Amino acid sequence: MNIDIDKIRSDFPILNEEVYGKPLVYFDNAATTHKPQVVIDAISEVYKKYNSNIHRGVHYLSNVCTHAHEDARKKVQEFINAAHSHEIIFTRGTTESINLLSTSFADTFLKEGDEVLISQMEHHSNIVPWQLLEKRKGIVLKYIPINKTGELEMDKLDSLINDKTKLVAITHISNALGTINRIKTIIDKAHAEDIPVMIDGAQAVQHVKIDVQELDCDFYVFSGHKLYGPTGIGVLYGKEKWLDKMQPYHGGGEMIKTVSFEGTTFNELPFKFEAGTPDFSGSVGLGAAIDYVKSIGIEVIDQYEKKLLEHANKGLSSIPNIRFFGTAKEKASVISFLIGDIHPFDIGTMLDKMGIAIRTGHHCAQPLMQYFNIPGTLRASFAIYNTKEEIDKLVESTQRVAQLFG
Ligand code: PMP
Repeated sequence: MNIDIDKIRSDFPILNEEVYGKPLVYFDNAATTHKPQVVIDAISEVYKKYNSNIHRGVHYLSNVCTHAHEDARKKVQEFINAAHSHEIIFTRGTTESINLLSTSFADTFLKEGDEVLISQMEHHSNIVPWQLLEKRKGIVLKYIPINKTGELEMDKLDSLINDKTKLVAITHISNALGTINRIKTIIDKAHAEDIPVMIDGAQAVQHVKIDVQELDCDFYVFSGHKLYGPTGIGVLYGKEKWLDKMQPYHGGGEMIKTVSFEGTTFNELPFKFEAGTPDFSGSVGLGAAIDYVKSIGIEVIDQYEKKLLEHANKGLSSIPNIRFFGTAKEKASVISFLIGDIHPFDIGTMLDKMGIAIRTGHHCAQPLMQYFNIPGTLRASFAIYNTKEEIDKLVESTQRVAQLFG
């Protein structure tokens, strides 16, 4: 594996920042990743050189801006190997993509008593929209339970899927545990019963190669900001056969073909689902982020991060009374832990003063914390610009803090 970590680090200007006079060690990558200069430049170029509203303009700048936005869509298509670029819907992020589905898919295909199957390790954004739908439409939400290692209890799948199940919506990788779920098996089992599957890829696209055609998932959603891209832009990939039939989500400009007081006809895909002025600086930034990731290689990123995970596992294991949450065989570079009875917030706050940013709390996965019967964890999550030396610092500092708390 060939990776020039100094060069990669120099691509991210924020890594030169100091916090409390100390070099920044950033291990909160599952929450959001930092942006390489090429992404920052791409966004600033939009505003400096060709800012203009897209699709409708006849003038030069509008055409340039439209092309940049649509090029970004093609980059996303290619990145996840979608069959068509019109199967890529730009949204504000994973959360909005799931809300779009829980509205548009539900309006078109679900009725009272139908079941949606999720899992016990979902992020709140793949729980609450379905609970709102329970209230709105009387659907029934069910979940696949997990075991103590933080893996899905796959043998429960057969008994949970029945003729009322109308959608399976599962996270690819758990943000709180790092577990990589066996989504291909889930997709195949659901498809055997003609049930469509949505995959929440918010924690996956930045770590592993995604091929939506090979997976054969019906929907795949993710956020730009966790993939070294900007905030405010995300993706809903959907198979044309579903998107074509689904009701629009938001009404407004762009998503229509004709409007009169007698009625409205809707635009073709993907515009039917993109009402209003799209976030074209966001899409261009996301396109630049994808180019950046490809310039390193997602497989290289995956391998490098696995090494970091191994190193962190080994180092942290030496701390007395440490308890890990999420010890699945297949894991992404996320480590959740507690030390004795020390509240995670106390450790997190002290690490922060040492310049180390990690996450503490329930990680928007309260049902998961309820399963483990804990208020939350400390979570360190690694990205391509992290190093083993930084991990050593985390281990050493955590050990010192733990000693301080006795
Ligand atoms: N799903 C998972 C697994 C996540 O980790 C996150 C973000 N933490 C989300 C959904 C929501 O993503 P966003 O806040 O970017 O919409």
